[in-house]
Amino acid sequence: MRVARTIVVAPDALRLVHQVHGRGVLVARGAAPAGRHWPDADVIVSDDPSVAIVVRVADCAPVLIGDRRLGVVAAAHAGWRGTVQRAAPAAVTALTETFGSRPADLMAAIGPSLGPCCGEVGDEVVEAFRDAGHDAAALARWFAPGASGRPHVDLWRANRDQLEAAGVPSDAIHVAALCTKTHARVLHSYRADRERAGRMAGVIRVKGRR
Ligand SMILES: [Zn+2]
Repeated sequence: MRVARTIVVAPDALRLVHQVHGRGVLVARGAAPAGRHWPDADVIVSDDPSVAIVVRVADCAPVLIGDRRLGVVAAAHAGWRGTVQRAAPAAVTALTETFGSRPADLMAAIGPSLGPCCGEVGDEVVEAFRDAGHDAAALARWFAPGASGRPHVDLWRANRDQLEAAGVPSDAIHVAALCTKTHARVLHSYRADRERAGRMAGVIRVKGRR
């Protein structure tokens, strides 16, 4: 598997999940169980340098988090549904509760994903955010009308705001700000290529021995 080669781990050291657009957490330690038996989850955390945790995306935002003090890591899969459900803060909480992380020690990267330029959605998406308790100020920051007048969602800002609200320092949150659809020739975009779209891997591993 190309991802494994790139980050120099054995293929069975990659820990993947069956992503269901939620906020369920897998604590990954040790090699993956035999077979492709991936648990349902959209957040993975690990303190094990022998594994690399992976979220797969093609427009959804991959959020990777590292703890500068403890060295533990998290990955979250945050499309609009995951962002509604606060998947990125769920990753912060999982690090805090599982390993004793302090949010102030965390740094985060939000990888290439659908940008506000191309993030046209229906009103039902705005409603889903509202129904989940995101307030008017948040909605005003995360949605803006596009050329057609329909709302565009800004996953980058929403995930940044949610991470900040969870206590991750603003200057420790890095946003790639690369839109997958705009750059569909070099990135994978479901909106651009539908069923033919490939997937990109957001991968992070605890530093140390392999
Ligand atoms: Zn775009």
